Amino acid sequence: MLTENVIEVEKHVQAACDRAGRSRDEVTLIAVSKTKPVSDIEEVLTTGILDYGENKVQELSDKYEVLPKNIRWHMIGHLQRNKVKYLIGKVVLIHSVDSLRLAEQIEHEAAKADIVMPVLIEVNVAEEESKFGTTSEAAMQLVEAVSKLPHIKIRGLMTIAPFTDNPEDNRIYFRKLKQLSVDIKSKNIDNVDMDELSMGMTGDYEVAIEEGATMVRVGTGIFGKRNYQI
Ligand SMILES: *Cc1c(COP(=O)(O)O)cnc(C)c1O
Repeated sequence: MLTENVIEVEKHVQAACDRAGRSRDEVTLIAVSKTKPVSDIEEVLTTGILDYGENKVQELSDKYEVLPKNIRWHMIGHLQRNKVKYLIGKVVLIHSVDSLRLAEQIEHEAAKADIVMPVLIEVNVAEEESKFGTTSEAAMQLVEAVSKLPHIKIRGLMTIAPFTDNPEDNRIYFRKLKQLSVDIKSKNIDNVDMDELSMGMTGDYEVAIEEGATMVRVGTGIFGKRNYQI
């Protein structure tokens, strides 16, 4: 069942890459496994997908313990500072850095572990009140401040677009995030890469790929509906 979902999503990812004249290997498909059992992840693992996204530290840690260590875990949800210490060493990328205070906590824990933690800056491009993320206007300043932290490496930007029935509605926000990353890149800030754009979910990942996404986060499309909305 889940295997067929992956094949279906993969077909759409490939089609979007083709339409945009992009190579398939420019886009990482992250399977968002939040709320789903380990057995579901084991099934999806058989398709070769190794990138998984979770939005809660406890759940991510529990799954990390029991699943193969070659899985690349992505923290995609809002992160509280007192939880950072449980993440370091387990995740390959934190997508949700939206304040200097959070970044400083990551710096502290990464320094203790003697690693450099790759992160994305989360931007609320659609300016939805319900969403986390820095504003587009504040993003440049935040990037500059975070770039000075030696145990953090900024790899790019992330956004969560509004929930909508029509994916075309979100094209403008994906375009805005891409433009913002181009603007930031042009500043050539030390210790900052703008190689990754994490945008697009089940409802709109094809549009996101057309607009330059390098990571799409697909939950429902792979694992089916969640019992509760998070
Ligand atoms: C849940 C979640 C997703 C996946 O959502 P779907 O619509 O099920 O694909 C992607 N990104 C974030 C940040 C999420 O919390």
